[in-house]
Amino acid sequence: MDYKLRQDKLRERAGAARLDALLVSHLPNVHYLCGFTGSAGLLLVEARGSVFFTDFRYDTQAHEEVKDARIVIGRKPALELLGQHLSRKRKGSRSWIIGFEAEHLTIAEKKRLTRFLPSGIRAKDAAAMVEPLRLIKDDEELACIREAVKLGARLFDRALEVLRVGVAEVDVAAEMEFMARRTGAEGMSFPTIIASGERSALPHGRASADPVPRGGFVVCDFGVILGGYCSDQTRTVWVGPVSKEARRVYDAVQEAQLAATEAVRPGVTAGEVDAAARNVLGKAGLAEYFTHSTGHGVGLEIHEAPRIAAGQKEVLQPGMVITIEPGVYFAGKWGVRIEDMVAVTPTGCEVLTPTGKHFIAV
Ligand code: ZN
Ligand code: ZN
Repeated sequence: MDYKLRQDKLRERAGAARLDALLVSHLPNVHYLCGFTGSAGLLLVEARGSVFFTDFRYDTQAHEEVKDARIVIGRKPALELLGQHLSRKRKGSRSWIIGFEAEHLTIAEKKRLTRFLPSGIRAKDAAAMVEPLRLIKDDEELACIREAVKLGARLFDRALEVLRVGVAEVDVAAEMEFMARRTGAEGMSFPTIIASGERSALPHGRASADPVPRGGFVVCDFGVILGGYCSDQTRTVWVGPVSKEARRVYDAVQEAQLAATEAVRPGVTAGEVDAAARNVLGKAGLAEYFTHSTGHGVGLEIHEAPRIAAGQKEVLQPGMVITIEPGVYFAGKWGVRIEDMVAVTPTGCEVLTPTGKHFIAV
Protein backbone atom coordinates (compact mmCIF):
# COMPACT_ATOMS: atom_id res chain seq x y z
CA MET A 1 0.00 0.00 0.00
CA ASP A 2 1.30 3.46 -0.86
CA TYR A 3 1.05 5.06 2.59
CA LYS A 4 3.37 7.89 1.62
CA LEU A 5 1.07 8.95 -1.23
CA ARG A 6 -1.98 8.80 1.05
CA GLN A 7 -0.27 10.92 3.70
CA ASP A 8 0.87 13.43 1.08
CA LYS A 9 -2.70 13.80 -0.21
CA LEU A 10 -3.83 14.36 3.37
CA ARG A 11 -1.11 16.99 3.88
CA GLU A 12 -2.47 18.90 0.92
CA ARG A 13 -5.94 18.88 2.43
CA ALA A 14 -4.69 19.86 5.88
CA GLY A 15 -2.62 22.67 4.38
CA ALA A 16 -5.59 23.97 2.44
CA ALA A 17 -7.58 24.04 5.72
CA ARG A 18 -4.74 26.06 7.31
CA LEU A 19 -3.80 23.35 9.76
CA ASP A 20 -0.18 22.81 10.81
CA ALA A 21 -0.91 19.16 11.50
CA LEU A 22 -3.77 16.71 11.62
CA LEU A 23 -4.21 14.31 14.50
CA VAL A 24 -5.70 11.09 13.18
CA SER A 25 -7.40 9.13 15.95
CA HIS A 26 -10.06 7.07 14.13
CA LEU A 27 -8.34 3.68 13.93
CA PRO A 28 -9.49 2.70 10.41
CA ASN A 29 -8.02 6.03 9.25
CA VAL A 30 -4.78 5.33 11.12
CA HIS A 31 -4.70 1.90 9.45
CA TYR A 32 -5.31 3.47 6.04
CA LEU A 33 -2.52 6.02 6.45
CA CYS A 34 0.28 3.96 8.01
CA GLY A 35 -0.75 0.29 8.19
CA PHE A 36 -1.25 -0.09 11.96
CA THR A 37 -4.05 -2.54 12.80
CA GLY A 38 -3.90 -2.49 16.61
CA SER A 39 -6.57 -1.01 18.84
CA ALA A 40 -4.70 1.93 20.41
CA GLY A 41 -2.65 4.46 18.53
CA LEU A 42 -2.56 8.01 17.19
CA LEU A 43 -1.00 9.34 14.02
CA LEU A 44 0.12 12.94 13.84
CA VAL A 45 0.50 14.00 10.22
CA GLU A 46 2.69 17.09 10.07
CA ALA A 47 3.88 19.02 7.04
CA ARG A 48 7.33 17.41 7.16
CA GLY A 49 6.52 13.90 8.26
CA SER A 50 4.30 11.76 10.43
CA VAL A 51 4.66 10.44 13.96
CA PHE A 52 2.83 7.40 15.31
CA PHE A 53 2.19 7.11 19.06
CA THR A 54 1.22 3.99 20.92
CA ASP A 55 1.86 2.29 24.25
CA PHE A 56 4.29 -0.55 24.99
CA ARG A 57 1.66 -3.29 24.46
CA TYR A 58 1.90 -2.58 20.73
CA ASP A 59 5.68 -2.22 20.54
CA THR A 60 6.31 -5.26 18.33
CA GLN A 61 3.17 -4.81 16.25
CA ALA A 62 3.87 -1.14 15.59
CA HIS A 63 7.41 -1.87 14.41
CA GLU A 64 6.13 -4.63 12.15
CA GLU A 65 3.22 -2.74 10.65
CA VAL A 66 3.72 1.01 10.71
CA LYS A 67 5.17 2.48 7.54
CA ASP A 68 6.16 6.03 6.63
CA ALA A 69 5.92 7.38 10.18
CA ARG A 70 8.32 7.73 13.09
CA ILE A 71 7.22 5.45 15.93
CA VAL A 72 7.01 6.68 19.52
CA ILE A 73 6.32 4.04 22.16
CA GLY A 74 5.91 4.70 25.87
CA ARG A 75 4.47 3.39 29.11
CA LYS A 76 1.81 6.12 29.03
CA PRO A 77 -1.32 6.37 26.88
CA ALA A 78 -0.73 7.62 23.33
CA LEU A 79 -2.38 10.97 24.08
CA GLU A 80 0.16 11.75 26.82
CA LEU A 81 3.01 10.75 24.52
CA LEU A 82 1.63 13.13 21.94
CA GLY A 83 1.51 15.94 24.51
CA GLN A 84 5.16 15.31 25.41
CA HIS A 85 6.18 15.25 21.77
CA LEU A 86 4.49 18.55 21.09
CA SER A 87 5.83 20.37 24.14
CA ARG A 88 9.38 19.35 23.34
CA LYS A 89 9.05 20.30 19.75
CA ARG A 90 7.15 23.52 19.79
CA LYS A 91 8.65 25.39 22.70
CA GLY A 92 8.82 29.07 21.88
CA SER A 93 7.46 28.78 18.36
CA ARG A 94 4.43 30.62 17.05
CA SER A 95 0.95 29.39 17.83
CA TRP A 96 0.42 26.07 16.15
CA ILE A 97 -2.93 24.66 15.03
CA ILE A 98 -3.70 20.97 15.17
CA GLY A 99 -6.82 19.69 13.51
CA PHE A 100 -8.48 16.67 15.05
CA GLU A 101 -11.11 14.33 13.74
CA ALA A 102 -14.12 15.96 15.34
CA GLU A 103 -16.56 13.39 13.97
CA HIS A 104 -14.77 10.57 15.71
CA LEU A 105 -13.99 12.04 19.12
CA THR A 106 -16.31 11.92 22.10
CA ILE A 107 -16.63 15.02 24.25
CA ALA A 108 -14.61 13.28 26.97
CA GLU A 109 -11.80 12.46 24.54
CA LYS A 110 -11.77 16.01 23.28
CA LYS A 111 -11.40 17.28 26.85
CA ARG A 112 -8.50 14.92 27.51
CA LEU A 113 -6.88 15.95 24.25
CA THR A 114 -6.95 19.65 25.10
CA ARG A 115 -5.63 18.88 28.58
CA PHE A 116 -2.50 17.26 27.13
CA LEU A 117 -1.79 20.01 24.63
CA PRO A 118 1.02 22.33 25.68
CA SER A 119 0.43 26.07 25.62
CA GLY A 120 0.98 27.67 22.24
CA ILE A 121 -0.80 24.83 20.50
CA ARG A 122 -4.40 25.14 19.54
CA ALA A 123 -6.75 22.28 18.71
CA LYS A 124 -9.38 22.80 16.06
CA ASP A 125 -12.30 20.69 14.83
CA ALA A 126 -11.39 19.46 11.37
CA ALA A 127 -13.80 18.26 8.72
CA ALA A 128 -13.45 14.63 7.64
CA MET A 129 -10.23 14.59 5.60
CA VAL A 130 -9.22 10.94 5.44
CA GLU A 131 -12.65 9.59 4.49
CA PRO A 132 -12.75 11.40 1.13
CA LEU A 133 -9.45 9.68 0.28
CA ARG A 134 -10.74 6.28 1.39
CA LEU A 135 -13.79 6.71 -0.84
CA ILE A 136 -11.75 5.82 -3.95
CA LYS A 137 -10.04 2.45 -3.66
CA ASP A 138 -6.71 1.97 -5.44
CA ASP A 139 -5.79 -1.22 -7.30
CA GLU A 140 -4.20 -2.85 -4.27
CA GLU A 141 -7.28 -2.19 -2.18
CA LEU A 142 -9.56 -3.51 -4.92
CA ALA A 143 -7.46 -6.69 -5.04
CA CYS A 144 -7.88 -7.11 -1.25
CA ILE A 145 -11.62 -6.50 -1.49
CA ARG A 146 -12.00 -9.05 -4.31
CA GLU A 147 -10.28 -11.68 -2.17
CA ALA A 148 -12.45 -10.86 0.86
CA VAL A 149 -15.62 -11.07 -1.24
CA LYS A 150 -14.54 -14.38 -2.75
CA LEU A 151 -13.82 -15.91 0.64
CA GLY A 152 -17.04 -14.51 2.10
CA ALA A 153 -19.13 -15.94 -0.74
CA ARG A 154 -18.03 -19.48 0.16
CA LEU A 155 -19.86 -19.16 3.48
CA PHE A 156 -23.18 -19.18 1.67
CA ASP A 157 -22.38 -22.61 0.22
CA ARG A 158 -21.80 -23.76 3.80
CA ALA A 159 -25.11 -22.19 4.89
CA LEU A 160 -26.95 -24.15 2.20
CA GLU A 161 -25.42 -27.39 3.47
CA VAL A 162 -26.74 -26.92 7.01
CA LEU A 163 -29.88 -24.82 6.55
CA ARG A 164 -32.96 -27.03 7.18
CA VAL A 165 -36.27 -26.86 9.02
CA GLY A 166 -35.61 -27.15 12.77
CA VAL A 167 -31.93 -26.12 12.75
CA ALA A 168 -31.20 -23.22 15.12
CA GLU A 169 -30.25 -19.95 13.41
CA VAL A 170 -27.13 -19.68 15.59
CA ASP A 171 -26.00 -23.12 14.46
CA VAL A 172 -26.11 -22.02 10.83
CA ALA A 173 -24.21 -18.83 11.72
CA ALA A 174 -21.68 -20.81 13.76
CA GLU A 175 -20.96 -23.18 10.87
CA MET A 176 -20.40 -20.22 8.56
CA GLU A 177 -18.15 -18.40 11.00
CA PHE A 178 -16.17 -21.56 11.76
CA MET A 179 -15.56 -22.02 8.05
CA ALA A 180 -14.54 -18.37 7.73
CA ARG A 181 -11.83 -18.83 10.35
CA ARG A 182 -10.69 -22.14 8.91
CA THR A 183 -10.28 -20.60 5.46
CA GLY A 184 -8.21 -17.64 6.61
CA ALA A 185 -10.59 -14.81 7.48
CA GLU A 186 -9.27 -12.42 10.14
CA GLY A 187 -12.76 -12.07 11.52
CA MET A 188 -16.35 -11.36 10.57
CA SER A 189 -17.28 -7.92 9.20
CA PHE A 190 -20.27 -7.97 11.60
CA PRO A 191 -22.20 -10.60 13.60
CA THR A 192 -23.69 -12.99 11.03
CA ILE A 193 -27.40 -12.47 10.38
CA ILE A 194 -29.47 -15.62 9.98
CA ALA A 195 -33.07 -14.48 10.32
CA SER A 196 -35.86 -16.99 9.68
CA GLY A 197 -39.65 -16.94 9.88
CA GLU A 198 -41.07 -13.66 11.21
CA ARG A 199 -37.56 -12.57 12.09
CA SER A 200 -36.66 -12.40 8.40
CA ALA A 201 -38.81 -9.26 8.31
CA LEU A 202 -36.31 -7.52 10.63
CA PRO A 203 -33.68 -5.95 8.39
CA HIS A 204 -31.02 -6.54 11.07
CA GLY A 205 -32.19 -9.68 12.87
CA ARG A 206 -29.11 -11.37 14.27
CA ALA A 207 -28.99 -15.15 14.49
CA SER A 208 -31.04 -16.35 17.48
CA ALA A 209 -31.43 -19.71 19.18
CA ASP A 210 -34.82 -20.17 17.43
CA PRO A 211 -35.20 -23.13 15.09
CA VAL A 212 -35.84 -22.37 11.40
CA PRO A 213 -39.60 -22.85 10.80
CA ARG A 214 -41.20 -24.41 7.72
CA GLY A 215 -42.77 -22.12 5.14
CA GLY A 216 -40.82 -18.88 5.21
CA PHE A 217 -37.71 -17.07 4.06
CA VAL A 218 -34.34 -17.11 5.80
CA VAL A 219 -32.27 -13.97 5.30
CA CYS A 220 -28.52 -14.74 5.43
CA ASP A 221 -26.39 -11.56 5.65
CA PHE A 222 -22.71 -12.10 6.32
CA GLY A 223 -19.20 -10.92 5.60
CA VAL A 224 -15.57 -11.55 6.43
CA ILE A 225 -12.50 -9.41 6.99
CA LEU A 226 -9.47 -10.37 4.92
CA GLY A 227 -6.35 -8.28 4.50
CA GLY A 228 -8.12 -5.65 6.61
CA TYR A 229 -10.98 -5.28 4.11
CA CYS A 230 -14.61 -6.23 4.65
CA SER A 231 -17.01 -8.22 2.55
CA ASP A 232 -20.80 -7.94 2.77
CA GLN A 233 -23.36 -10.19 1.08
CA THR A 234 -26.97 -11.24 1.56
CA ARG A 235 -28.85 -14.16 0.10
CA THR A 236 -32.38 -15.19 1.02
CA VAL A 237 -33.52 -18.81 0.93
CA TRP A 238 -37.03 -20.25 1.14
CA VAL A 239 -37.69 -23.18 3.46
CA GLY A 240 -40.53 -25.64 2.77
CA PRO A 241 -43.27 -25.67 0.12
CA VAL A 242 -43.09 -22.52 -2.02
CA SER A 243 -46.01 -20.08 -2.17
CA LYS A 244 -46.81 -17.99 -5.26
CA GLU A 245 -46.51 -14.78 -3.29
CA ALA A 246 -43.06 -15.67 -1.99
CA ARG A 247 -41.90 -16.30 -5.51
CA ARG A 248 -43.40 -13.03 -6.80
CA VAL A 249 -41.78 -10.93 -4.06
CA TYR A 250 -38.42 -12.66 -4.47
CA ASP A 251 -38.45 -12.00 -8.21
CA ALA A 252 -39.33 -8.33 -7.66
CA VAL A 253 -36.44 -7.88 -5.21
CA GLN A 254 -34.09 -9.59 -7.62
CA GLU A 255 -35.25 -7.35 -10.46
CA ALA A 256 -34.76 -4.27 -8.27
CA GLN A 257 -31.28 -5.45 -7.33
CA LEU A 258 -30.36 -5.92 -11.01
CA ALA A 259 -31.83 -2.56 -12.02
CA ALA A 260 -29.83 -0.71 -9.37
CA THR A 261 -26.67 -2.58 -10.35
CA GLU A 262 -27.21 -1.64 -13.99
CA ALA A 263 -27.55 2.00 -12.96
CA VAL A 264 -24.08 2.03 -11.37
CA ARG A 265 -21.56 3.95 -13.46
CA PRO A 266 -19.38 7.06 -13.13
CA GLY A 267 -21.31 10.33 -13.19
CA VAL A 268 -24.52 8.90 -11.77
CA THR A 269 -25.57 10.04 -8.30
CA ALA A 270 -26.05 7.65 -5.40
CA GLY A 271 -29.66 8.82 -5.27
CA GLU A 272 -30.24 7.72 -8.88
CA VAL A 273 -29.00 4.22 -8.08
CA ASP A 274 -31.37 4.09 -5.11
CA ALA A 275 -34.23 5.29 -7.33
CA ALA A 276 -33.56 2.51 -9.86
CA ALA A 277 -34.24 -0.11 -7.18
CA ARG A 278 -37.18 1.77 -5.72
CA ASN A 279 -38.88 2.20 -9.13
CA VAL A 280 -38.94 -1.53 -9.76
CA LEU A 281 -40.42 -2.25 -6.33
CA GLY A 282 -42.87 0.61 -6.81
CA LYS A 283 -44.18 -0.94 -10.04
CA ALA A 284 -44.64 -4.23 -8.19
CA GLY A 285 -46.66 -2.40 -5.51
CA LEU A 286 -43.96 -3.07 -2.92
CA ALA A 287 -42.36 0.36 -2.45
CA GLU A 288 -43.70 0.85 1.08
CA TYR A 289 -42.12 -2.43 2.20
CA PHE A 290 -38.62 -1.38 1.12
CA THR A 291 -37.79 0.35 4.38
CA HIS A 292 -34.06 1.02 4.18
CA SER A 293 -31.58 2.53 1.75
CA THR A 294 -30.23 0.64 -1.27
CA GLY A 295 -26.63 0.36 -0.17
CA HIS A 296 -23.46 1.73 1.35
CA GLY A 297 -19.73 1.92 0.73
CA VAL A 298 -17.51 -0.88 2.02
CA GLY A 299 -13.77 -0.96 2.65
CA LEU A 300 -11.73 -1.04 5.83
CA GLU A 301 -15.08 -0.51 7.55
CA ILE A 302 -18.28 -2.38 6.86
CA HIS A 303 -20.26 0.84 6.53
CA GLU A 304 -18.52 3.79 4.96
CA ALA A 305 -19.20 6.47 2.36
CA PRO A 306 -21.00 6.80 0.02
CA ARG A 307 -24.55 6.20 1.20
CA ILE A 308 -26.72 4.84 -1.61
CA ALA A 309 -29.98 6.38 -0.46
CA ALA A 310 -32.87 8.50 -1.70
CA GLY A 311 -31.79 12.00 -2.71
CA GLN A 312 -28.06 11.44 -2.14
CA LYS A 313 -26.14 13.80 -4.42
CA GLU A 314 -22.76 12.08 -4.17
CA VAL A 315 -21.57 11.34 -7.73
CA LEU A 316 -20.19 7.85 -8.32
CA GLN A 317 -16.58 7.64 -9.44
CA PRO A 318 -14.35 4.77 -10.57
CA GLY A 319 -12.80 3.04 -7.55
CA MET A 320 -15.81 3.35 -5.27
CA VAL A 321 -16.99 0.06 -3.79
CA ILE A 322 -20.62 -0.17 -2.73
CA THR A 323 -23.33 -2.66 -1.87
CA ILE A 324 -26.62 -2.98 -3.73
CA GLU A 325 -29.11 -4.48 -1.29
CA PRO A 326 -32.80 -3.78 -1.78
CA GLY A 327 -35.24 -5.70 0.41
CA VAL A 328 -38.95 -6.16 1.02
CA TYR A 329 -40.24 -6.83 4.54
CA PHE A 330 -43.75 -7.88 5.59
CA ALA A 331 -43.84 -7.31 9.36
CA GLY A 332 -44.93 -10.42 11.27
CA LYS A 333 -44.61 -12.56 8.15
CA TRP A 334 -41.30 -12.68 6.31
CA GLY A 335 -38.78 -10.62 4.36
CA VAL A 336 -36.40 -10.85 1.40
CA ARG A 337 -33.09 -9.10 0.76
CA ILE A 338 -30.46 -9.67 -1.92
CA GLU A 339 -27.09 -7.95 -1.57
CA ASP A 340 -24.01 -7.87 -3.77
CA MET A 341 -20.87 -5.79 -3.63
CA VAL A 342 -19.93 -3.88 -6.78
CA ALA A 343 -16.97 -1.72 -7.76
CA VAL A 344 -17.48 1.34 -9.95
CA THR A 345 -15.28 1.07 -13.07
CA PRO A 346 -14.50 3.72 -15.74
CA THR A 347 -17.34 2.36 -17.91
CA GLY A 348 -19.88 0.95 -15.46
CA CYS A 349 -19.42 -1.49 -12.66
CA GLU A 350 -17.89 -4.82 -11.77
CA VAL A 351 -20.10 -7.13 -9.72
CA LEU A 352 -17.69 -8.55 -7.14
CA THR A 353 -20.01 -11.09 -5.48
CA PRO A 354 -19.80 -14.33 -7.47
CA THR A 355 -22.88 -16.06 -5.98
CA GLY A 356 -25.96 -16.63 -8.17
CA LYS A 357 -29.22 -14.93 -7.22
CA HIS A 358 -31.78 -17.45 -8.41
CA PHE A 359 -34.62 -18.51 -6.10
CA ILE A 360 -33.53 -21.33 -3.82
CA ALA A 361 -35.83 -23.49 -1.71
CA VAL A 362 -34.51 -26.08 0.76
ZN1 ZN B 1 -25.06 -7.09 4.46
ZN1 ZN C 1 -24.66 -4.13 3.54
